[in-house]
Amino acid sequence: MQHGLLKGALLLLGIPHHHEGDDIVATGGWQAMLNGFGFTTRKSEIHQLIDLGLNVDQRILELRDSNTVLRAERARLFTLEKERSTIRIAAETDARQRGLGIAETDEVGRNAAEQVPDPGPDNPEQYLAAQVNEDDHAVDGILIQVRKISELRWEHAAPVRVGCRMGRPEKAAPRIMSPMTHALFPIDLTGGNQRLMAIAAEKQTIRVQMGRRVCKKCGKESPFVVCHHRLLDEHGEGRVGVNCRGRTAMRESEKSNRRRRGEIQSVRLDTILEDARIRLGMDRIPRTVKCMKKIASRDQTPEAIEKGLLRAKFQLPVFRDGTVRFDMSDVPVTHFTPREIGVTWQTIESLGYTHDVEGNPLESDEQMLEIFPQDFIVAKNAGEFFVRTAKFIDDLLVRYYGMEPYYNVNTPDDLVGHLICALAPHTSGGVLSRIIGWADCSGGYAHPLFHAAKRRNCDGDEDAIMLLMDGLLNFSREILPANRGGLMDAPLVLTTRLNPTEVDKEALNVDSGWFYERDFYETTLNQPHPKTIADRMDFVERRLGSIAAVRGYGYTHDCDAIDAGPALSAYKTLDTMIDKMNGQLDLGHKLRGVDVRTVASSVVRSHFLPDLRGNMNAYARQKVRCLKCAHSYRRMPIAGNCIQPKKSSGQGLASVGVAKSEGGLCGGNLALTVSEGAVRKYIKVTKHVMATYGVDTYTKQNVEWLADSVDSLFNNDRAKQLSLSDFL
Ligand SMILES: [Zn+2]
Ligand SMILES: [Zn+2]
Repeated sequence: MQHGLLKGALLLLGIPHHHEGDDIVATGGWQAMLNGFGFTTRKSEIHQLIDLGLNVDQRILELRDSNTVLRAERARLFTLEKERSTIRIAAETDARQRGLGIAETDEVGRNAAEQVPDPGPDNPEQYLAAQVNEDDHAVDGILIQVRKISELRWEHAAPVRVGCRMGRPEKAAPRIMSPMTHALFPIDLTGGNQRLMAIAAEKQTIRVQMGRRVCKKCGKESPFVVCHHRLLDEHGEGRVGVNCRGRTAMRESEKSNRRRRGEIQSVRLDTILEDARIRLGMDRIPRTVKCMKKIASRDQTPEAIEKGLLRAKFQLPVFRDGTVRFDMSDVPVTHFTPREIGVTWQTIESLGYTHDVEGNPLESDEQMLEIFPQDFIVAKNAGEFFVRTAKFIDDLLVRYYGMEPYYNVNTPDDLVGHLICALAPHTSGGVLSRIIGWADCSGGYAHPLFHAAKRRNCDGDEDAIMLLMDGLLNFSREILPANRGGLMDAPLVLTTRLNPTEVDKEALNVDSGWFYERDFYETTLNQPHPKTIADRMDFVERRLGSIAAVRGYGYTHDCDAIDAGPALSAYKTLDTMIDKMNGQLDLGHKLRGVDVRTVASSVVRSHFLPDLRGNMNAYARQKVRCLKCAHSYRRMPIAGNCIQPKKSSGQGLASVGVAKSEGGLCGGNLALTVSEGAVRKYIKVTKHVMATYGVDTYTKQNVEWLADSVDSLFNNDRAKQLSLSDFL
């Protein structure tokens, strides 16, 4: 049996229902629906009050009549306009020939056109009624009929639909510098392409740029914060693993005003590394310890090499401020249950959540709790990462600082209750927070005020979190790069207490009511300016100055799990740009609140046009590369092929870099590095989008003009190939 129409109607009206065999059972709201169809129930039997069919038939006739009237009027206006335009053009041409100016010509044309009288519609009252009918139908649809036959009051469930577009895809991943680094330690090019410490150490002594410091204990020079020189035994030999360890200070020099104060100096990397290994009690140096080519801080003093070794042991990437971070998209949350965040109620109770939102003592995993403003629910995939980080911190405390371990964690659950520092990009202020649980989502859940306190507005930004002890131990202003923006993205200050009056005002617009008054709903039907009915809403700004600004928020709809839904958005699962665009436009077609033409225009303007422009630019100013030796030239050499001297054969003078006088050139073919295909890549798709969905004229002309430019770039405009038939 086909349920098509009925099922569709139930879905559209939002009436709860389920299937039972061949029947559809509506479980709620059916009384109103029956009433709307002209039926009523008496003694659990259904009676017809009014024949809706007759009403609908009559309405269809009315609309049809209106349509006829409107069409006739449109046709009449069209003919009139045509007639007027002929006369206007004739008058204008005449005026132009008499040598009149533009304004005068217009005037003459207008006057001539008005000579043709407009008697108006045949039956003005009928025309007005038809317009009203059509307009009512466009706005209210079938509601007009329903209102006529039902005694109940009927309103649109959704009078206005709002479409929106995603800003950026979600993220939850470790912060990794490009290229990835374990140790903020410079090895220049001695570590090979991979910048490996082990390879650099094979060279024993490396020459790198570091700050010159002087040991306060032994007076010798050392580039490190702690003196690395070995103490000598009775024979005057350095003792392995026994170092001076005196504190050092930057050496005063005439170069102290420079932006970077380092100087090229030789360092015995192999013995330094061996001493560090012994001090840490490690059996061997981790195989992959990635270092930096150079450090960009003012003093160019590297962090303790031990820190890098331990990070490498736990495979943790370091950020340029010395901390280990995890980035997550901001997700605001006000309420949760212990089950939703994967912790037991006993654990969460011990963190201060003693009562649920209704004021009952917490005694199950299903009770609804209101999140404290400085608590954080972390993305699940960060759990294992932070366990490794905590182990790294403990190792660092025990093996390097000689102190007690702090975290002692083995599983993500052990991290619940620990403090973290949250930091937004382009800012320098961290906010103190606490891990209370985990959610299976590519984002970090926290109170809206908390996201705002990081100076963000909760609209899809991503912020970093770090373990507090990591920030305290390993961050230092001294290791920040001395570039413009070097102080950005570093926890220079830490806000320990969140103050709602100090956050961005935008964040105070969070709706915190438990329900909306009927009066509020009725007022919205007239679509007033939001400000005029702000006092009928309960939102955070109105709660400022009392405890209610941070506690006692309400919500209107419950859910089963805060992290239910797609684990990854289609934007991340779809591969190519074109797939993503097609997906977006498909969706735009289906959504009532979205104008697909606007979406198409916006995609073309924000993605395809800049791409096309950029590629064209890159094509025009590209380099050429030798296919044989891979040398690249900024311009094509006059020789037309590669003019690099041949690489040494390892014999004679060639082995020390002297080229033969002639015939010793590479001579390889040169090729372009940006191809025509890379430039033309999206033109076809763009044109397809424009043809299918239609875009505004400005964008359309912009694309056509660029496509012409591309054609002009690759085809000779003057030499045109013609066939014989062109001359016939
Ligand atoms: Zn010393
Ligand atoms: Zn070559």
